[in-house]
Amino acid sequence: MSEKKLTVLQAVKGMNDILPPESARWEWLEARMRSVLQRYGYQNVRTPIVEPTALFVRGIGEVTDIVEKEMYAFEDRADKHGQAEHLALRPEMTAGVVRAMIEHSFLRDSGRRLYYFGPMFRREKPQKGRYRQFHQMGIEALGFSGPDVDAEVILLGNRLLCELGLVEGDHFRLELNCLGSPEERRAHREALIKHLELHVDLLDEDGKRRMHSNPLRVLDTKNPALQDMANAAPRLLDFLGEASLAHFNGVRAILDAAGVKYTINPRLVRGLDYYNLTVFEWITDKLGSQGTVCGGGRYDGLIEQLGGKPTPAVGFGMGLERMLLLLEEVGAMPAAPVPDVYAVVPSATGLPQVMAALDQLRAAGVCVLMHPGQSSMKSQFKKADASGAAWALIFGEDELARGEVGLKPLREQGEQLYLPLGSVGEWAGRLTQA
Ligand code: ATP
Ligand code: MG
Repeated sequence: MSEKKLTVLQAVKGMNDILPPESARWEWLEARMRSVLQRYGYQNVRTPIVEPTALFVRGIGEVTDIVEKEMYAFEDRADKHGQAEHLALRPEMTAGVVRAMIEHSFLRDSGRRLYYFGPMFRREKPQKGRYRQFHQMGIEALGFSGPDVDAEVILLGNRLLCELGLVEGDHFRLELNCLGSPEERRAHREALIKHLELHVDLLDEDGKRRMHSNPLRVLDTKNPALQDMANAAPRLLDFLGEASLAHFNGVRAILDAAGVKYTINPRLVRGLDYYNLTVFEWITDKLGSQGTVCGGGRYDGLIEQLGGKPTPAVGFGMGLERMLLLLEEVGAMPAAPVPDVYAVVPSATGLPQVMAALDQLRAAGVCVLMHPGQSSMKSQFKKADASGAAWALIFGEDELARGEVGLKPLREQGEQLYLPLGSVGEWAGRLTQA
């Protein structure tokens, strides 16, 4: 070993370790979400983190922030023929899910309802609610064209937020828009470019650059100086034909019947190119400019664009870091889980019987914590108290010598009882009902 002191390595900027006790909040969030997803009949899908770069360029669109500026793309090592693949860390998962569905002919006979959890990667400026590795939970309903499935996806998202303890109006709101069909967008685009040209002096750099390449995105601006101009711009909603309007009204009728509140935001366009008809976002004003916790919409053209048979589809992606920040901010995060039992084991004598008895309890479903040996009875009782456990099981030398174990309630007054060491497992029922 060299004498030189090695520098301590750190995680990549914008990529976070998730450690206890924070990791317990993640597990709680994920478990809550899975329970909702199952009730709506969605099935889990897991796809690789690395995909061919071309998948995202084709899927997300070349003139988007993600593909232009944010993607971690690299050239793999060359194979024996000197060929190297262009690969990218996934910045989102819809394109990967669609690729997998096409590759495995999963869309042949009927529709699919899928969900995923996983890390995504975007090279953005790290700040609260915005990271370079972040996590999304998302759903995709593939093969359904009716407005009922758009509404189902929105109802599911709403149910997730409500079951996490968030309240519409106080903590989040839903915004809805209809982007119509590519033809309707083309007609609107011409009118919009005329409007932007009239106000070109006002436009910021992004606005000028996108005025012709992606004018709809200019309306998405957060620049306060552009709000009046953007509000006065021709509205895509006014360019929609009968079919698009009927679809939009179909979605709205279901949301209305279910009592889901929303506002129509004619300027809501979303950051990816693949959307058509319904788009939506759940927004909070509790997280500053990282206020979009979930966004999605219909993307009927994507599957064909990625080489599959034309197939309608709709879905959303929810940012888990932002969800956790929001839950923390509004006090909707549950208290950390506590063990049922803390085992006080003041001496190493008899440890084999102690461990065997605790294993019986765990087999019977009891959550047991222990840090045996080294410290005094008093300090172990302190730890037992701090752990939040409802009971202490006391494996003192005297008790053990009698073949017994002491049981003491920690959260309420009560006598210490003595149980036979060999049959503590039979007490499991009492120990878990805290
Ligand atoms: P934003 O406008 O905040 O950049 P976006 O439109 O790029 O969001 P989507 O591509 O729609 O985001 O991704 C869906 C969700 O994923 C977002 O609503 C957000 O909650 C989350 N998300 C997106 N980018 C990040 C990031 N860099 N860090 C943390 N969460 C993110
Ligand atoms: Mg973004």
